Amino acid sequence: MFIKIQSDIPKFKCNACGSCCSHIRGIVPKEDGEFIRQHAFGKLPVVQLVPVERMTFPLWDWEAKRFAEWQDEVNVDAGIKPLRAILDLNSNKAIILTYFMDSETDACPFLMDGKCSIYHTKRAYVCRLFPFNRSPFTNQDGIKLKENLFGECGAMEHILPQVPNDFERMIKFLNEAFPDGSFLNAVQNDIVVEWANKTIIDLMKEKIIKPVMNQPYNFLLRRIGNADKIDFTDFLAESGYLIENKIQELIKRFDGNTDAAEKISQFAKSS
Ligand code: SF4
Ligand code: SF4
Repeated sequence: MFIKIQSDIPKFKCNACGSCCSHIRGIVPKEDGEFIRQHAFGKLPVVQLVPVERMTFPLWDWEAKRFAEWQDEVNVDAGIKPLRAILDLNSNKAIILTYFMDSETDACPFLMDGKCSIYHTKRAYVCRLFPFNRSPFTNQDGIKLKENLFGECGAMEHILPQVPNDFERMIKFLNEAFPDGSFLNAVQNDIVVEWANKTIIDLMKEKIIKPVMNQPYNFLLRRIGNADKIDFTDFLAESGYLIENKIQELIKRFDGNTDAAEKISQFAKSS
């Protein structure tokens, strides 16, 4: 007879308080907000189109397309608008990297009677990764890293004090402590961010795009506002950088958290 050995790692359980969905405006980790303020208003290829205080969480273009369909299904105006764009001199287009929901209140427009009205769908990463702000793979900074990992969530009280400071132990702990998949979603979202950044650099190196940079912010905003718009993944197909099938494969891979699962399992093997 086998005796089942219980892991003593506590398990996160969302208590569905709705708090994270009630305050989505300006919900940017402090250090990310500082980075955006310093660099994203015209100094980098990707331009932030709204002030940090007004923005809500970013939606990748394929996520924004899904949200646009779901808003019709549940009869909600989600106020989906471009959040970050590249003004490309080669195509003369504004390439929209991410969108946001310009909610009339602080709350997500899909939140109804304290519940997510599209909970049954493949919601955006930012919906599925909370209480994480990010994964630990983006910054291996010991104790500081631990502090920056999570947003405010009442269900974290019994977990947070037990998160190890040591990086390797932390990964194993998080992998077990979040059976809801939020850890996997956070790792995958960071991998998607890395993919987007690398793809933009590659597009520039191959001279497929020539982003406008170091121009007055208001000038950039005006030019982007007047330019023809195209979503990032649509641009990748239109420019011939990736064929449509490959883009759909990539999105499927992202949706399935395939890269995150591989990364975590490789990590577990090597540690
Ligand atoms: S993740 Fe945390 S803040 Fe969000 S609904 Fe669950 S318990 Fe509340
Ligand atoms: S879509 Fe649903 S889960 Fe995502 S923020 Fe809105 S209410 Fe929350």
